[in-house]
Amino acid sequence: MSTFQAPKGTYDLTPPRSATFLAVREAISAPLRDSGYGYIETPGFENVELFARGVGESTDIVTKEMYTLTTKGGDQLALRPEGTASVLRAALEANLHKAGNLPVKLWYSGSYYRYERPQAGRYRHFSQVGAEAIGTEDPALDAELIILADQAYRALGLRQFRILLNSLGDKECRPVYREALQTFLRDLDLDEETRRRIEINPLRVLDDKRADVQKQLTDAPKLRDYLCDACKAYHEEVRALLTAAGVAFEDDEKLVRGLDYYTRTTFEFVHDGLGSQSAVGGGGRYDGLSEMIGGPELPSVGWALGVDRTVLALEAEGVELDLPATTSVYAVPLGEEARRVLFGVVTELRRAGIAADFAFGGRGLKGAMKSANRSGARYTLVAGERDLAEGVVQLKDMESGEQTAVPLTEAAAELAKRLG
Ligand code: ATP
Ligand code: MG
Repeated sequence: MSTFQAPKGTYDLTPPRSATFLAVREAISAPLRDSGYGYIETPGFENVELFARGVGESTDIVTKEMYTLTTKGGDQLALRPEGTASVLRAALEANLHKAGNLPVKLWYSGSYYRYERPQAGRYRHFSQVGAEAIGTEDPALDAELIILADQAYRALGLRQFRILLNSLGDKECRPVYREALQTFLRDLDLDEETRRRIEINPLRVLDDKRADVQKQLTDAPKLRDYLCDACKAYHEEVRALLTAAGVAFEDDEKLVRGLDYYTRTTFEFVHDGLGSQSAVGGGGRYDGLSEMIGGPELPSVGWALGVDRTVLALEAEGVELDLPATTSVYAVPLGEEARRVLFGVVTELRRAGIAADFAFGGRGLKGAMKSANRSGARYTLVAGERDLAEGVVQLKDMESGEQTAVPLTEAAAELAKRLG
C-alpha cells in the first residue's frame, strides 16, 4: 500500500470486478442505443447555479450534498451531483431542440459526486447511466423509458426488482394540492428545518424517511385525489402501455422523489436485496425544468440508473454475468529467439482481431503456464529452440489439453479458424 488511500466514501474499480461495471453500463445503454437515443457527454462540473435552479434550492442534493468550489478566476462551480440539469443545459446550448426532430433522445454514462454519509450502496463518487427524452409530452415516451430500464435489468438477469409508479400532477393541479398539504403539515409537530421545507417544497416532506415524521403523515391529503382530469388521463395511459408491454409496476402514491423538477409521471426501481439503499434507479417527467433554467417550454422525461447499486443487486441475487474471456490466446516463449518470434505472432493475432497476451519478463515454463491458465485463454502457443528449428509452434487447447505442432507460418490462420 502507498501512503495514500482513496478518499472517504469512494472506492476504486479494479479487475476482475471492474469488468462487471463495464458490462452493467453496456447492458443499461444497449436498449437505449437500439431505441434512438444518442450519446451525450457533458463536463464533470457546471456553474453551481444550474443545479441550484435545476435541481432545486430545497433539495438535499443542493443544500447538503453538493461539492462546490470557487475557481481562481472566481467562478462558482459544483461537481455534478446528477445528470439531468447538465444534459438539458447542453441540449439547449447546442439547439438540439430546434433541429425539428422532437423528442431529442439522449443517453449518458458517467461519474457523479455527492457529499453524503458513506455507507453500503451510498458513496461520494458513484456512476450512473441515464436517459432523457426532451421536448415531447406523450405518455408513450414515459412508458418507453420505463420499459427500456426494465429490459436492461432483465437482460442483466435481475429479477428481484420492483417498479414504483406515481403521478405528481402538473402546474394546474399540483398547486391546489400543495396548498392543501401545507395546511395539513403546518399543524404537525416538526423540527425547524422541516417546517421551512413545508413552505419551500411541501411534497418532499412526504419523502421524509424518519418514522416519527411518517407516523404523522397517515392522514395527509393524497395527491391522487387532487389530480386534474388531464393528469389522470395521462397517467392511466402510461399505466395501460406498461401493462400492455407486460411490465409489472406498483402504484405508490407516496413516491415523490428527491428532486424539485418532477411533474406527472414519477417512478423508482427498487431492489429487495439491498437493505436500506434499495433504489437502484429512478426518474420521471420534468415538464418545467427547461423554463427553470432559462429555456423554452420543453416537456421532457428521463431516468438515471445507479451502476454501483446495480452491481450490488447482481451480487445480492448471485447473478454471474456471462463475461467474455478477455484473452483468447496466450503465448509462452522459451528462450530469446522464441520471444522475438512469438511476440511477432501475438502482434499478428491482435491485428487480426484476436485477443492475445504474452508471457512477459522471461519467466520459466511453469510460471508462464500458470499465467496462461489465469488469463482464461482458450489456447496457448509454446515454442522453444527445437520447435523453431523445425519451423513449428506447439498449439495447446486449454479445454481438451490436446497439443499439436503447427507450422509457424500458419499459426495465426489456424487460431483464427479455430476461434471462428
Ligand atoms: P437515494 O434516495 O438512495 O438517496 P436518490 O433519489 O438520491 O437516491 P437519484 O438522484 O434518483 O437518487 O439517482 C438515481 C440513482 O443513482 C439512485 O437510484 C441510485 O442507484 C444512484 N445513487 C444516487 N446517489 C447515490 C450514492 N450516493 N451512491 C451510490 N449510488 C447513488
Ligand atoms: Mg439521495
